[in-house]
Amino acid sequence: MKPRIASLLLFSLFALSCSLFQPTPTPAPEVSSTPDPLDTPWDDRSIFKDGLVSSAQWALDELGGATVYHVELEIADNLSHVNGSEKIRYTNTESQSLNEVRFRLFPNILGGKMEVSNLLVDNTTATPRYDLQNSLMIVPIAAPLAPGESVVIRMDFSVEVPRTVELNYGVLAYDQDVLALAHAYPMVSVFDEEGWNAEIPPQEGDVTYADASFFIVRVTAPKGVTVVASGRRVGFTEAEQTQSVVVASGPARDFYLAASPKYVETTINADGVLIRSYTTANFSEGSQYLVETAARAIKIFSARYAPYPYTELDFVSTPTLALGIEYPGMIAITSWIYDMENVAPNEYLEATVAHEVGHQWFYNLVGDDQLDDPWLDESLTQFITLQYFIDTYGLAGSEGFKSSLEFRWDMIARENIPIGLPVEDYDGATYSGIVYGRGPLFFVALRDAMGDSSFDAFLKEYTQSLTWKVSTPETLQSLAEKNCACELDAIFNEWVYP
Ligand SMILES: [Zn+2]
Repeated sequence: MKPRIASLLLFSLFALSCSLFQPTPTPAPEVSSTPDPLDTPWDDRSIFKDGLVSSAQWALDELGGATVYHVELEIADNLSHVNGSEKIRYTNTESQSLNEVRFRLFPNILGGKMEVSNLLVDNTTATPRYDLQNSLMIVPIAAPLAPGESVVIRMDFSVEVPRTVELNYGVLAYDQDVLALAHAYPMVSVFDEEGWNAEIPPQEGDVTYADASFFIVRVTAPKGVTVVASGRRVGFTEAEQTQSVVVASGPARDFYLAASPKYVETTINADGVLIRSYTTANFSEGSQYLVETAARAIKIFSARYAPYPYTELDFVSTPTLALGIEYPGMIAITSWIYDMENVAPNEYLEATVAHEVGHQWFYNLVGDDQLDDPWLDESLTQFITLQYFIDTYGLAGSEGFKSSLEFRWDMIARENIPIGLPVEDYDGATYSGIVYGRGPLFFVALRDAMGDSSFDAFLKEYTQSLTWKVSTPETLQSLAEKNCACELDAIFNEWVYP
């Protein structure tokens, strides 16, 4: 995510066929034997293969324990109500038995409403408990799930989408003819050292913490709206009033979609990755600028850290109050910064796009607890955004973006607040100043302390060894120390830890 910092940013940042003959009766059509993608066997990963570049397809065999979601979403004509059903296979990848599986119902704390019904655990009716303002659904498993065992959980659900962007930057909203549907399916929580890890997210920052999973989703929506969703399209059918799109996405930490009757597409193919941008027609110049920027960023980050995993990356313009918000293989960008007549692209658009593309590495490829360790995704992504500017324009050409980092920290008088605090320990100003300003400057200091070549090797090893896993601050420090063959407690204590 890239929250706005006030608006004063200095980083000036058809066929009619007729016949004379009586037509012969048309034979009855053969019954189609095309299987429904949502009936794909749980362990069959073939549907995901074409959505991954060849160098990322190894993950299909490696992530046997990842949760598999089969989801149906029916979007009502008013684009603000969704009826859904979800069937998941959850595998216990922990070292202890589990007697429940926990789901997040995020719409209940994002200004909307999510209700779950007809809950079945391995075909037996189950009664859930709720907590965290109904944003947490605890599903009991009658026979505790031993390590390595799996369970199939089914449910129906409904989502009322808020018609304002007031809460959490408007990640979940129907506003200005755009439906932004974030976290709008029951999402499995992460089980980690803390146990089932769930909390109410603050208004600042990202709301999710999720493991890499696989998604097959059928979206039924009114005709006439463009539906843009995470993953690769594997099916499309039309009825009189509706269209159905089936997508397969994974590995991925979330599923997102946006839909609007106003979207116009701009496409570029960059080194095997199809980059598409959807916005209103009047912003097509900004859209073109955006896809070219994204292509540069993908190239730089793929070479430096690990290949971009997917064959597609989609951008959608939305009314979000953040500058941009990252999702796996998809990025939401706030509409007004596409306006190249009134907003210079080097003020917001380029940096926002590079930053959000960077999150495809640090948030999606390498996961982290975004609520407890926001620096692992946000500060590091800010740093690699600086790297984008260095690699694109040279050191001198990167000074503008570097100054924007200093400026954010200056705004809070360069307070010596650790960068490694949970989101809830910052207020709006210190979250921006520390996590988005001081945080990336820590990585500059770390690079200077380690030396360029060992720092570069560290960040590459960090990305590749943690791909589709969850990182921690300790893992990051120990990999840095390994690569410089040095001890880095002093610098981590000075900048990171409380
Ligand atoms: Zn961000």
